[in-house]
Amino acid sequence: MKNPKILVLGGGFAGLEAAIKLRKYGYPVTLISDREYMFIYPTSIWIPVGKQDFEDTKLDLHEMAKIHGFDLKIEKVNKIDIENQKIETDKSSHLYDYLFIALGMGKHYVPGLEHTLSICGKPGDSLLIKEKLENLIAKGEGVINIGFGGNPADPTATAVRGGPAFELLFNISLFLKEKGLRDKVKLNFFSPSVSPGKKMGTKAFASLDKFYERYHINTYFGKGIKEFKPDEIIFKDGTKLNSDLTVYISGGKGLKVIEESGLPLNEAGFIEINELVRVEGHRNIYAIGDAAAIIDHPWAAKQGHVAEVMADVATYNFNNSMKHIDKRKSYWEKLHIVCVMDSGDAAAFIIRTEKKEWMIMLPVVGHWMKKAWGWYYKNTKKKKMFRLPGM
Ligand SMILES: Cc1cc2nc3c(=O)[nH]c(=O)nc-3n(C[C@H](O)[C@H](O)[C@H](O)COP(=O)(O)OP(=O)(O)OC[C@H]3O[C@@H](n4cnc5c(N)ncnc54)[C@H](O)[C@@H]3O)c2cc1C
Repeated sequence: MKNPKILVLGGGFAGLEAAIKLRKYGYPVTLISDREYMFIYPTSIWIPVGKQDFEDTKLDLHEMAKIHGFDLKIEKVNKIDIENQKIETDKSSHLYDYLFIALGMGKHYVPGLEHTLSICGKPGDSLLIKEKLENLIAKGEGVINIGFGGNPADPTATAVRGGPAFELLFNISLFLKEKGLRDKVKLNFFSPSVSPGKKMGTKAFASLDKFYERYHINTYFGKGIKEFKPDEIIFKDGTKLNSDLTVYISGGKGLKVIEESGLPLNEAGFIEINELVRVEGHRNIYAIGDAAAIIDHPWAAKQGHVAEVMADVATYNFNNSMKHIDKRKSYWEKLHIVCVMDSGDAAAFIIRTEKKEWMIMLPVVGHWMKKAWGWYYKNTKKKKMFRLPGM
């Protein structure tokens, strides 16, 4: 096929990386995103405490399209029609020969979820958390509850997102201290899990108690959630927590548009792929990033760098198959958890592979390393600096 029609759905870590790599291999590409920008989620944790500007957390997809030479459509995907190789959006429809699905994930519903905010949901939520936090500061007292949980249908919990909850807790604690309000505003951490944070590895998990103590955080573990109310959390055991601000990061699940696509899905609604990142039973479709199910590696987690690895491997394998080159890559070989868990004045640098785990505490410098990563990510994508191998 001389000029295949290639569509990339989604303009996050996975979709943007796939579009860039496909252009590097010389293919014409159309990227469809419902947002005009890529949101750099890892640095959004500082928006509520005023240490990161919302606009600076965005990477303009129009600028990306111009720099890397892909076609961009700002449209919402409503239907993935695999039978007719067609994508229907709110504005038009697009035929494809090859499809890269990078639409991210949805959230498992818990009753009253609409009364909570999430740092891992719509980008605008970060500004709403900021506003509520500022109101509490103006009032001079209150209760903040921050938590995360899983999706009972996600057996390996690869779509649990706990790191950002910890980062937000520690950063808010520091912020309140800076405002002289640490004793006046109560900060609670809650989770249905009896051991929240275990995914980061036993070393990192064991160190969390010291963090709770240092940042004066009350903990409520193993508390199944019955319902969120506008001003309280009701747990299944009948106990309650008053709340002026509830941040809850629910477990991930497949998006409705993916669930309705007829593609092979796991119990949680994520697309089943093989280690080559190709969708099972579909030679012309790849699923990358949070939208894809990570199988056979229950210790792993959906992360931005995994999304980029998947995009790299998928596009490499695609290019080789187009050029009739036998060599293939497996994303499993590059699978690991890399996490810089920031606390505002320090960071824990955590690496976990199938067999090993490392954790290094980096006072002060760790925080600035994560800040520097945000700058590096943007500038490499803007081709203003070279990309370091493996980063
Ligand atoms: C607060 C926070 C902190 C994090 N910190 C880290 C970290 O330190 N390190 C790390 O590796 N990972 C981190 N992650 C995880 C990382 O951000 C995700 O794994 C990553 O964003 C996944 O990329 P993705 O492209 O698959 O999905 P997303 O980034 O969610 O992108 C999905 C894209 O699809 C688009 N889209 C969705 N639905 C439609 C539709 N119907 N039509 C058109 N477009 C659509 C969206 O607009 C978006 O552009 C963090 C996540 C959060 C939320």
